[in-house]
Amino acid sequence: MLAIEVKNIEKKYENGVKALYGLNLDVKYGEIFSLLGQNGAGKSTLIRILSTYTNTTSGKVKMLGMDVEKDAEFIRFQIACVAQQISLDTHLTLQENMLFQSQLYRIPKEEAKKRITKLLYEFALTSYSSYPISSFSGGIKRRADIALNLMSNPKILFLDEPTVGMDIQSRQIMWKMIKKIRDEFGTTVFLTTHYLEEANILSDTICILKDGRNVIQGTPEELRSIIQQNSIRISFNDNQKTQIAYSKIRLTFFKRKVRLNKVSIDIESLDCQSDLEEINKYLIKNSIQFSGIEIVQPTLEDAFLRLTKE
Ligand code: ADP
Repeated sequence: MLAIEVKNIEKKYENGVKALYGLNLDVKYGEIFSLLGQNGAGKSTLIRILSTYTNTTSGKVKMLGMDVEKDAEFIRFQIACVAQQISLDTHLTLQENMLFQSQLYRIPKEEAKKRITKLLYEFALTSYSSYPISSFSGGIKRRADIALNLMSNPKILFLDEPTVGMDIQSRQIMWKMIKKIRDEFGTTVFLTTHYLEEANILSDTICILKDGRNVIQGTPEELRSIIQQNSIRISFNDNQKTQIAYSKIRLTFFKRKVRLNKVSIDIESLDCQSDLEEINKYLIKNSIQFSGIEIVQPTLEDAFLRLTKE
């Protein structure tokens, strides 16, 4: 059985805007599933449908084997949603927030205490538990909010851009936390993100949405393999040298795709070894100053750009 099964859904808002067009996707139990897409692609609309806040116009959604519209009440108790605005009461301590949450879900007191201790310990929040939320940094607040939402033992956890605006250290702690939620709590995690690196590192499955449609769904490796060609990357010391070299290289290698980056140029290649030698010779012969030359494999970012362009 799948955790989430979306079959051919459409969503038309009352003002006539159509946000989803025949969307299909499957989320397996116990996986981290990332939804990627540019602004306006339909991510929030889909999350609103999956979290039972709004209905579809047509199509079918099953969650945990139940119908998302008919069995909305049941599903609501099996899922948790962590939005970008925290749901914690900032005047209360973390422990008080968690106790309050346990009462909302009618969790017996002894069981609630056990869950709180475990969650605080697993997510390194024990030392923060008796301070008011208002005294926490942004990163700790987000982790505390997720811990709070795990109080009800949800089967599926929705995370809307969990690391947006975080520094790299807080982001890495959050990634560890998300993996722990999957590995040690067995919770299915459905997240949206704008960071391709994050999707690449965290996801078992990625789905790319564009204009309300599913462009592709697969593992990060499957998505990267969409772009079969490797490239030869020439690196430069600064932007100006890159620009000058680009204008020459583009003309010489006009039959191939040449891409300009900030301080490097990528030339698509089918035969990397011989192209590497040929391009190296060309650069030296034409006195083009470069700082490095290497073969690079396509990244998830390359795949995302290609797929969303098409
Ligand atoms: P994303 O989260 O990927 O940015 P959204 O689901 O918010 O995408 O938006 C998809 C489309 O639906 C956009 O064209 C947006 O303007 C429209 N939309 C979103 N919410 C509403 C709403 N409540 N009423 C009308 N149109 C909406």
